[in-house]
Amino acid sequence: MSEIDKLYEAVLGLKAPWRIERVETDLAAGEVHVWVALPVNTRWVCPECQAEAPIHDHQDRSWRHLDTCQFHTLVHARVPRLKCPTHGVRQLQVPWAEPGAQFTALFEMLVIDWLKQASVSAVARYLRISWDEAAGIQTRAVRRGLARREQVSPKYVGVDETSFRKRHDYVTVVSDLERGQVLHVADGRTQASLDAFWTGLPKAQLQGIQAVAMDMCAPYIQSTLLNLPAADEKIVFDKFHIAQSLSKALDLVRRSESRRLGAAGYRTLKGTRFDWLRHPASFSRAETRAFAELRRRVRRMARAWELKETAMAIFDLKAAWAARRNFGAWFQWAIRSRLEPMKRVARTLLRYWDQIENYFRHRITNASLEALNTKIQQVKRRSRGFRSRERFREAILFHCGGLDLYPAAAIRP
Ligand SMILES: [Zn+2]
Repeated sequence: MSEIDKLYEAVLGLKAPWRIERVETDLAAGEVHVWVALPVNTRWVCPECQAEAPIHDHQDRSWRHLDTCQFHTLVHARVPRLKCPTHGVRQLQVPWAEPGAQFTALFEMLVIDWLKQASVSAVARYLRISWDEAAGIQTRAVRRGLARREQVSPKYVGVDETSFRKRHDYVTVVSDLERGQVLHVADGRTQASLDAFWTGLPKAQLQGIQAVAMDMCAPYIQSTLLNLPAADEKIVFDKFHIAQSLSKALDLVRRSESRRLGAAGYRTLKGTRFDWLRHPASFSRAETRAFAELRRRVRRMARAWELKETAMAIFDLKAAWAARRNFGAWFQWAIRSRLEPMKRVARTLLRYWDQIENYFRHRITNASLEALNTKIQQVKRRSRGFRSRERFREAILFHCGGLDLYPAAAIRP
């Protein structure tokens, strides 16, 4: 065997009975062709049942492999098809590629590594493969990863929506909050979107779920109550979402106050929108003084702001009973505040209080989901959108699913 044959044997990770037959370099085309051969007189076994089987015929096959320097490298082999008495005609499994693949496992690994960093189009262009080929490698990687993921038993899950294309076009994303991984992606944000996740879980995993963080969103609540045992003790309304509702109400009060003051010729609230929404801890000393002065001048706004800050302070308490007591007092205050937007939020919080109180037992939030959401939107921007929801779903699982994506056949150096 020549030195070059030895080199390619090592590069392909070939083991007996496979061996390099010959290597040809086509300088003009910039290609290296590697022929792999099997010895005759070997006893072959069926890939399904390992029973000995005679050769039925051969098929000429080629695989794109990692480039040799900058030369495209192609592996060729005449692969036998075996005739198993039980399974019929089956192609022999080659050690360097997955069944049916047009690329060696090492080449697929390279594509997968690149896809983690760049869009499908960029990877296809760079590695000189077609868009469909690069996308196909991603599809198979996700399918493989999902098939391997059986033993995941999440304790805490989060449910959220993320935008797909237009503003009102969403998918539902279910994640494992402890591992920060996406478990499930479904079309839309309806009850059925989430039902598919619950009904797809094996019973033991369903029993293992201790709490679910979500927004106060009727379809998700309905679905969870219907499918998760003892759900009313496990649903936790996300405190960041509650803060968001309070901020929205605060902003509504500001707008109506601004109109009222404007009509009377005062411009006190002009340009103060973000001062009201900012976290007070982020103010400098001068800003703190100025903001206190502003609050003295617009009492209704000050009251709305204090309501919001007081409500959020409840979440810093240790015990559920203390939270319930403070919320009771806060609710009475809010309902008498004569601030319609605040009263509306107060009624919503009262209706959902039991599930808000579950926070003090489980202490989970959708914060890690927010981080995943940011990543999902980054992937979306990099790809300049997706052709279909299915491709979007696949990309989310590829980038955020924590899946084992590499081909099993990959010989790891
Ligand atoms: Zn068989």
